[in-house]
Amino acid sequence: MQRKQFGLGDIVEMKKPHPCGTNAWKVIRMGMDIRMKCTGCGHSVLLPRARFEQRLKRVLSSAGDSAES
Ligand SMILES: [Zn+2]
Repeated sequence: MQRKQFGLGDIVEMKKPHPCGTNAWKVIRMGMDIRMKCTGCGHSVLLPRARFEQRLKRVLSSAGDSAES
């Protein structure tokens, strides 16, 4: 299995959408814990990195990846 790549500022989709109906989260802090913010209602949550990776479905848009053509 390929490890999912994500970085600061990326917009990611999770396996479960937020109760507000939006399923697009912006990664606003990277570290041992990942802080992400719902792009719909602005609510932010802090998840341990392992938990975040379990819940991550896919990366919708990558902020810092300029190498990709
Ligand atoms: Zn929300």
